[in-house]
Amino acid sequence: MMAYKHILLAADYSEHGEEVANRAKDIADKYQAKLSIVHIVDNLPISDAAYGPVIPLDVDLTEELMDAAKKRLADIADKLGIDENSRWLELGSPKLEIVRIAEEHNVDLIVVGSHGRHGLALLLGSTANGVLHHAKCDVMAVRLRDD
Ligand code: AMP
Repeated sequence: MMAYKHILLAADYSEHGEEVANRAKDIADKYQAKLSIVHIVDNLPISDAAYGPVIPLDVDLTEELMDAAKKRLADIADKLGIDENSRWLELGSPKLEIVRIAEEHNVDLIVVGSHGRHGLALLLGSTANGVLHHAKCDVMAVRLRDD
């Protein structure tokens, strides 16, 4: 069986994120693969609990959101022991950016949650679904349940 060499964790900072992260770390350890992490800040960000305190709406939110997102990414990556140069923070469409980053860095397995902040239990969320359809490598959707 083919051994994975480079695994990419797609982190959306949702409440289930840790479960997805732990699964990615576990697989990376088992295969002795490199583990990388990516988070995408949506194109048109609206202030969101995932990024911490509410930011006033009369300022351009993008810079603040990117800063908050960067700190959050560092916290998660530090916990997982992910190298500084294997952390990517992008602005854009989550599914397209996750797939692009995976291709650019020769990732052979992308790990996503079956749903995130917007998904429903037992259904595949739109990002997970989009990644599954567009990725050229294997994709693992960690089944998340809301119970
Ligand atoms: P969703 O399709 O939004 O329900 O999310 C499903 C999964 O896609 C999440 O559990 C994450 O693994 C991944 N994901 C969703 N949004 C993002 C994002 N902005 N950045 C990175 N990964 C994401």
